[in-house]
Amino acid sequence: MGILEIKNVGKRFGGLQALSDVNLSVAENTVHAIIGPNGAGKSTLLNCLVGKLIPDTGSVTFQGQSLLGRKPHEINQMGVSRVFQTPEIFAELTVFENVMIPCFAARDGSFKLNALNAVRGQNDIKETAEAILEDVKMLDKRHMTASSMSRGDKRRLEMAMCLVQEPKLLLLDEPTAGMARADTNNTIDLLKEIKEKRDITMAIIEHDMHVVFSLAERITVLAQGTPLVEETPENIKGHPKVREAYLGE
Ligand code: ADP
Ligand code: MG
Repeated sequence: MGILEIKNVGKRFGGLQALSDVNLSVAENTVHAIIGPNGAGKSTLLNCLVGKLIPDTGSVTFQGQSLLGRKPHEINQMGVSRVFQTPEIFAELTVFENVMIPCFAARDGSFKLNALNAVRGQNDIKETAEAILEDVKMLDKRHMTASSMSRGDKRRLEMAMCLVQEPKLLLLDEPTAGMARADTNNTIDLLKEIKEKRDITMAIIEHDMHVVFSLAERITVLAQGTPLVEETPENIKGHPKVREAYLGE
């Protein structure tokens, strides 16, 4: 069984069946990409996983526990974190101050925290923030103002803030959308580094095939609200169904 199990999920908006019969299993510690044409239902599916939308039918379980009917912050506390297209950081603060915020929140109980709680009293928050910044290779930039950084580095900072919570499953909705190639490559490297160091599962929605093929171990193609194919990257490239639905050939 996967860390995330989506079974027979359907979601309708008025007359539009945005999702139907979605079955998808994300294996623990893998990177699973969900691709598909505009309007295929990718964001709708993601919203059904994080408590922003409730599916009309089906079930969604994370580590065997149902996510349906839970509030977004509860799902977050269970170990599911979402990364948005635009990094969610505090622009006027320095890199270090940005990372201190979730560290304080964790200590004061706003986030459920594993590692940070374990080291509480031995390691102070400053050391934790520094360790996480070192992890994402931003320690040398800790005094920079967040707004002055490249988009790739903003994404790095956001990920550092997110990692304080020790997520088990990261959901990424087009994390490189609108980025220049250098920032996109920076983000690919970042996600690979995180993956190497941590027990973390990633489900990534992405348009950029360079990103998909650089990261994904499994790829699900969603078309008109339904999974069309699930395959390895090697097998997906020339897949006739994929060419038809995704490339319009
Ligand atoms: P994708 O992310 O794959 O581009 P979406 O999940 O955003 O696709 O959208 C799937 C379909 O559902 C589209 O036709 C979109 O217009 C429609 N849709 C998405 N959200 C809503 C909503 N809140 N109300 C009505 N229709 C919606
Ligand atoms: Mg979308």
